[in-house]
Amino acid sequence: MTPELIEPGLWRIPLPMPSGPAFVNVYLARSEDGWILIDTGFGVPGVLDELAAGLAYAGIAPADLRQILLTHVHPDHGGNAPQLAAMSGAPIRLHPADAELLEWILRPGSAARMGERLLAAGAEPDKVAESVEACARLFALFPPLDGALPLVPGESFETVLGPLEVIHTPGHSPGHVCFHLQDRRVLISGDTVLDGIFPNVGVVDGHDCFGEFLDTLGRLQTVPEPRILPSHGLPFEGLHAWCARTNAEALKRLRRVGKLRDEGLTAAAITRRLWDRDLRPFDLQLAITTVLAQILHLDRSATEQPREQLRIS
Ligand SMILES: [Zn+2]
Ligand SMILES: [Zn+2]
Repeated sequence: MTPELIEPGLWRIPLPMPSGPAFVNVYLARSEDGWILIDTGFGVPGVLDELAAGLAYAGIAPADLRQILLTHVHPDHGGNAPQLAAMSGAPIRLHPADAELLEWILRPGSAARMGERLLAAGAEPDKVAESVEACARLFALFPPLDGALPLVPGESFETVLGPLEVIHTPGHSPGHVCFHLQDRRVLISGDTVLDGIFPNVGVVDGHDCFGEFLDTLGRLQTVPEPRILPSHGLPFEGLHAWCARTNAEALKRLRRVGKLRDEGLTAAAITRRLWDRDLRPFDLQLAITTVLAQILHLDRSATEQPREQLRIS
C-alpha cells in the first residue's frame, strides 16, 4: 500500500486492518512548522511500522508531527495515538463526546454492560455470551488517551493549504468530526462519509445517535461540494448526492424498523427478520444496536415534533 500525494502538502497513507475494510487511511496536512496527522491506524502489531514507513516515504519524520487529530475514537483511528504522541511530543485532540465514550468503554465491565443491552433487546443468551467475548476483544484495542485535548467544532488549524476546520458530524460516534480544507474544497470525512457504505450507527448512553446522524446529513449538505477523502476506500466526489441517498436510505430503514416494532417484535427479532442469516458474534451486536438506535430515535420523535420530515428535502 503506497502513500498518495493528494496535492502538495496533503498525503494519504493507507494502513492495513486486521479485519473488516481492507485498509484505513490516515492523512497528513502540512503546517508552517511541521505536519498535522489525522488518525493513526489500528493499534495492532506491525501497523505502527507501516505508518513509520509511510511517513518516511513522504519525507516526514515522527518528530515533525505538531498535532494528532482524531476523527473519532474507534481503534482503527486512534490505535497508535499514544505511541505517536510519545514519539513526537504532539498533543492528541479528540471531540469531548468521544472522550466520554472512551471512558465508558475502558471502564471495567463494559463488554458485560453491552451484553445486558443485548439481552434486554431479546437476544438469545448463548449468542449474547459470544458477542460479549467479541466485544471484550475489540474493547481491549481502544487506547487510553489520557491528557487528550478537546477538538472544538468550528475551530481551525492553520495549514499551507489554508485553514483546516473542525465540523462536528455525530452519528457513527457521538464525537465524530470531519476536517474541512475549505480553500481547497477537500473534506476529510472519517467514517461518516464512505463510498457505497451506510455508516454504522449504534447506541451510546445519553445520545439519540440516529437522530444526530440525520442532523449530520443536513449539516454536510451545506458544505460546498468537496473532494471527499474517506477513512476507508479511495477519494471520491459527490457529497450532496451521497447525503441525499443516505438520508433516503435512513428514512427507509426507520420506516421498516418502525413497522416491525409496531407488530410487537423485539429488537433482536427485528434484526433476525432484517438480516435473515447467521451473523458472527460481533456483527450480531452491531446489527442489534443499530436496530436499537432506530427504535430509540422513533420513540424520541414520537414525543417531539416529526423532526426527520423537517430535516432534509
Ligand atoms: Zn469508526
Ligand atoms: Zn474506521
